[in-house]
Amino acid sequence: MCARCLRPQATCLCALARPTGHRTEVLVLQHPQEQRQAKNSVALLRLSLAHCEVVVGERFEPAALQALLHRPGRQTRLLYPDVPAAPAPPAPPAAGAPLRLVVIDATWRKSLRMLLEHPALAALPRLSLDAPQPTRYRAIRAARRADQVSTLEATVQALAMLEGPCFQAAPLLDAFGRFVADVQARQRPAGAEGPAPPGGGS
Ligand SMILES: [Zn+2]
Repeated sequence: MCARCLRPQATCLCALARPTGHRTEVLVLQHPQEQRQAKNSVALLRLSLAHCEVVVGERFEPAALQALLHRPGRQTRLLYPDVPAAPAPPAPPAAGAPLRLVVIDATWRKSLRMLLEHPALAALPRLSLDAPQPTRYRAIRAARRADQVSTLEATVQALAMLEGPCFQAAPLLDAFGRFVADVQARQRPAGAEGPAPPGGGS
């Protein structure tokens, strides 16, 4: 077991981590099912980002959630689209205050349920990605919606939107590409050569 990334030595992520500076604080609320996925992207994100906190849970007590969501001197935004099932609250006037960005790491359906079950989350002003970029994830994990990308890619894209060209997204996205390739290589049946057949994967 690696003491730093808490994964078996065979799948240790530490060599892939790319220390990345940024101003926005990131809080990831991770569904417990995601924590157990070898192919989950959040461990690499946490190891790489300078200010990234990961809290695992599906139901949060209101007071505990409020304490997680808000920091003095920072405005909080939820990285989530404005969807009919959970319309976004009116956007606040743009202000130059530093941000705390909350990201839900769960399948699409479970993230929506977490949002609907926690009024404090639903009440947060949203940040939605204008045009989600194609995911490098599709090879190992069927995206449930065409615009659904991994939590790492969505967070990196959001930080790039918020912080502009001084945010160095490329090294981290490249590291994620190598992570996806490693997971794919391990998923290949023993003895098989070449790429997995189309339609395979989980
Ligand atoms: Zn490690």
